[in-house]
Amino acid sequence: MANQRLQSDVVVVGAGPAGIAAACMAAENGRKVAMVDNSPWLGGQIWRGAHSGRGPAGHWIDRLQKSGVSVFSSATAFAAPASHVLLVETPDGVLELDWKKLILATGARERFLPFPGWTLPGVVGPGGLYAMVKSGWPVAGKQVVVAGDGPLLLAAADGLRQAGARVSLVAEQADWGQVMRFGMGLWRYPGKLLQGVGVKARLLGVPYRCGCWPVKAEGTARVESVTLTNGSRSWSEDCDYLACGFHLVPNVELPCLLGCDMANGFVRVDEFQLTSVPEVFCAGEPTGIGGADCALVEGQVAGLAAARAEDQARILFGQRAAWHRFRASLNQAFALRPELRHLATPDTFVCRCEDVRYADLKGCESLRAARLHTRCGMGSCQGRTCGAAVQFLFGWETDSVRPPLFPVRLASLADKSPPLDKHTLQTDNS
Ligand SMILES: Cc1cc2nc3c(=O)[nH]c(=O)nc-3n(C[C@H](O)[C@H](O)[C@H](O)COP(=O)(O)OP(=O)(O)OC[C@H]3O[C@@H](n4cnc5c(N)ncnc54)[C@H](O)[C@@H]3O)c2cc1C
Repeated sequence: MANQRLQSDVVVVGAGPAGIAAACMAAENGRKVAMVDNSPWLGGQIWRGAHSGRGPAGHWIDRLQKSGVSVFSSATAFAAPASHVLLVETPDGVLELDWKKLILATGARERFLPFPGWTLPGVVGPGGLYAMVKSGWPVAGKQVVVAGDGPLLLAAADGLRQAGARVSLVAEQADWGQVMRFGMGLWRYPGKLLQGVGVKARLLGVPYRCGCWPVKAEGTARVESVTLTNGSRSWSEDCDYLACGFHLVPNVELPCLLGCDMANGFVRVDEFQLTSVPEVFCAGEPTGIGGADCALVEGQVAGLAAARAEDQARILFGQRAAWHRFRASLNQAFALRPELRHLATPDTFVCRCEDVRYADLKGCESLRAARLHTRCGMGSCQGRTCGAAVQFLFGWETDSVRPPLFPVRLASLADKSPPLDKHTLQTDNS
């Protein structure tokens, strides 16, 4: 396995809308930029697999390809062993990235909350199932119930239906009034309004029920039905898949490892997207769950600021402020209801990697205590799934983040990469 070392003016972690915009801006302003993303495709969660040419995704991917940014796919940033150095595991070995400015655009993941049966095969995140479908997973003719929280439910239901799934229900836990108020405010964001109207039109005939949530999934070898409630009445729906997730949680492990200050679970940034750590910027979902347009504009500001083009960045402040207002209304509308804290029974797994049940966590006062006594959060996902759940259930904050951030090969941990060639790795966007 070869190790390589690369020096860049700007390193961007994450190739979603925020990372792509940041990388383009920095490169177009004359900086030598490297970008890494742990998935094999450009585009992050929403533009995954998008091709050049069409729509905003195509525009930005074209722009990236012309920008001269060195892009490393299937490349996971897992440690920061020294100041201005990032270690990245690639299929070919460890890449040691030296940076002058670092832009963290690590995105978000779905939040899962434990309820009886949530670990059955066939119970998956709506975004996750949709992502699998985009990669070719067949769902034609399958009956799917989509449940949980947030606009991703509708986006996923739309995508699944277009792939031939029979979506029998979209169950949103937020109340109808909250969702309506959010919908009525969309006139300020015509693009989002159009998107919403299009999705609702394509989902004609699929019931969208607010104020209801899943309490139990059942099946023998895999999920066969889900029981839902609206707080006063419960009923069951048959399904081949239960696509269930509760909005998104930010991927803040890398910012935490680097020592960035946090506020309410998100990375704190200034007007130029600069974190509390000098020369480290952050953009997109780690600073707040606001959707792709918000991520795009934050990414542009971060890229421009990292390239010392602050005047150009300032021009975008008004646009960003509008998307921050959208972000605030989104998070207000889709706040989680307290009833969701009481879905798990004593036997329900909370940490599925280490088989830790809800009852095992009784008496623990912190995540640290839970780790020591039960191994909660110490399995292969390193608390990426149960961490957000116990934060919501018990109010336990993640106290520390340690490298490696992701499971990596032993060789990657053991190797000390020698300083090899400084500039030779090439863009591979194919
Ligand atoms: C599963 C899922 C599906 C979604 N589907 C939709 C949808 O269909 N429609 C919609 O409107 N919105 C969707 N969203 C929301 C949408 O993805 C976001 O609003 C938007 O993509 C945010 O852009 P971003 O650049 O901040 O982050 P992202 O697009 O999430 O990009 C972040 C990237 O960083 C990478 N990354 C993170 N950590 C590391 C690391 N340490 N090393 C290397 N790479 C790393 C991630 O793999 C990811 O590719 C989805 C979200 C999720 C989680």
